[in-house]
Amino acid sequence: MSESSLTCDALLRKGTITIAGESPRLDAELLLSYVTGLSRTSFRAWPERQVTASEAKRFEALVQQRASGHPVAHLLGEQEFWSLPLKVNVSTLIPRPDTECLVEAALGLPLPDNARVLDLGTGTGAIALALASERRGWRVLACDAVASAVELASENARRLDLPVTMVLSHWFDNLPAGRFDLIVSNPPYIASGDHHLGEGDVRFEPASALVAGEDGLDDIRTIVASSTEWLNAGGWLMVEHGFDQGDAVRELFLQAGLVVVETRRDYGDRDRLTLGQWPG
Ligand code: GLN
Repeated sequence: MSESSLTCDALLRKGTITIAGESPRLDAELLLSYVTGLSRTSFRAWPERQVTASEAKRFEALVQQRASGHPVAHLLGEQEFWSLPLKVNVSTLIPRPDTECLVEAALGLPLPDNARVLDLGTGTGAIALALASERRGWRVLACDAVASAVELASENARRLDLPVTMVLSHWFDNLPAGRFDLIVSNPPYIASGDHHLGEGDVRFEPASALVAGEDGLDDIRTIVASSTEWLNAGGWLMVEHGFDQGDAVRELFLQAGLVVVETRRDYGDRDRLTLGQWPG
């Protein structure tokens, strides 16, 4: 490799072309920053800065993996959610910005300072940890049916020093007895035949975190039907769902006896979550 091909600028230009896709320059910057420890702003301030040949080689290997579709979050082993740096791996869904709408909505509910909160299917722990970081008095329990996800979420809790209890349970199946003031979930909600499953990051994420039967509603049906046995009177249920599932999910909430049922939109102005209250 010649000297001039070892500048940040040259590597980023080449990486951007190789990666192509939706956000190639950003992806290249994130990968180069990961490999070199240099900040993304430094690439603009000092584009001619040289990296070592071994850094350039590692960067180029990551660029190749990104070009073949591997999610940036998997290559970095980390994804930010609600300003929390979360470790991610192939055992769970990569946290999405849209799920921050659910966190925001949950924080806006009229709940006691010492609310008992449950996050079903926590994956990386994203929602539970975000809530615990904002409400120090809340007692947050999170579960996942996948042991490696529980391990990952527990590690994230430890690293962030947030008091969330993580347990292995398929939805409510193995939870300790008790009732909650708030139950939240970002369950799988993609229909098994959906063509999106063959595109982008989801190709590298586990089907168990994405797919829920023919209409994508199997898990939401299970969660909503059981939720009333686990909610305190006046407690809230809130689930994320697909942009075209709002009507169906509100109907499920109403059938279960939940009231004040409402669907809210995500940052892209699409239906994304539904909430309702258990009158008891
Ligand atoms: N929002 C994700 C996607 O469409 C799916 C998340 C989920 O199934 N919970 O990529």
